[in-house]
Amino acid sequence: GHRRKSTLPGVREQTLIAVKPDGVQRRLVGQIIQRFEQRGFKLVGMKMLQASEDLLSQHYSELRMKPFYPSLLRYMSSGPVVVMVWEGHNVVQTSRTMVGHTNPVEAPPGTVRGDFSIHVSRNVVHASDSPEGANREIQLWFQGKELLNWDCCDQTSTYEV
Ligand code: UDP
Repeated sequence: GHRRKSTLPGVREQTLIAVKPDGVQRRLVGQIIQRFEQRGFKLVGMKMLQASEDLLSQHYSELRMKPFYPSLLRYMSSGPVVVMVWEGHNVVQTSRTMVGHTNPVEAPPGTVRGDFSIHVSRNVVHASDSPEGANREIQLWFQGKELLNWDCCDQTSTYEV
C-alpha cells in the first residue's frame, strides 16, 4: 500500500529547544539553530521572549525543591531566550545527545554544551528530556497556532517514505 509520511512512526515527534539567556548574550543562537537544521530536523515554531517567573516556575516545577532552583530562575529570567519546536524521527532523544550532559564537564566535544560551555549554571541550551515532557513544555511555551504544519522539500532524502 501507499504509505504517507505522516504515518511513519516517530516522524511527527516534537521537542522544545531553548537557547538560554547566556546563549543569546553570547550570540550562539545561529550556531545552535544550524546544528538542528543540518541534522535534518524541521523547525515548526520559534520565538524570542523574556520569560516570566510564572512561566519559568511551571517549566521547572519538578526542580522547585533543588538547592539551585532560585539561582536557576534568576539565570533564566536574566534576559531573553529563544524557544523553538523541532520535529522529526526520535527528535527528543537525538536532541539530548546533540545537547550533551546537563553538566558541561561531562558533555563531550561535538555537543552544544561540550563545545560552548564550562559550568552547569550557564549551560547555554535547554532540550526536553522525554516525549511526554516535550509535549508539556511545548503547550506551556507555545499556542497551537504558533506551530506550523509544513512540508519540507527534502523529506524523501531524510526519510524512506
Ligand atoms: N542546573 C544547575 N545546577 C545543577 C543542576 C542543574 O544550575 O546542579 C540547571 C541547569 O541550567 C540545567 C537546569 O538546571 O540545565 C535543569 O536541570 P535538569 O536536571 O533538568 O537538566 P537538563 O534537562 O537541562 O539537562
